[in-house]
Amino acid sequence: MKFTFDNWLLSRNDFHDKFNKGIPIPLKMMYGVIKKETEKCYYIEVEGKPTPSSTCLHCGRKITNKVSLYYGLGMVCGKHYGITNVSEENLEKKLEEIRSKLKKVKWVGLVPKKNVVIEDEISYEIIFEYKNKVYRVITTDETKVNEIKNKSDNILGIKTSKV
Ligand SMILES: [Zn+2]
Repeated sequence: MKFTFDNWLLSRNDFHDKFNKGIPIPLKMMYGVIKKETEKCYYIEVEGKPTPSSTCLHCGRKITNKVSLYYGLGMVCGKHYGITNVSEENLEKKLEEIRSKLKKVKWVGLVPKKNVVIEDEISYEIIFEYKNKVYRVITTDETKVNEIKNKSDNILGIKTSKV
């Protein structure tokens, strides 16, 4: 599931002090599961994932840098996670590194339901041709979908489903 948190949850506040050892949520958008649920709160386990986005996954501001749009972290915010020197030429090489760095950004804790929007993640099944071979890939990673669209010789089909 995809979680989008409001800005209040991204900063240190009384709620986090009381229930989450004072640790605010590190990214505006994260992915994971609901472990427990009460009437007003979710107890969640989430991690980061690169997501093509026009707003920053960390701070929610509009992204202006062209390369940053592909993985959803502005230049300044990316540095918090050790993501630097991403140019258009080495983006594909860097994406694996960005993926593994964001996967390590984890958070576990309690959030009030009114401060979070939860959506199903979209899973893509793509059948494509590359150098005269046909491949089938299933992924929820939109940066991977874009990579395949850019690199493959021919897209034979894309199916989406909610997970
Ligand atoms: Zn940012």
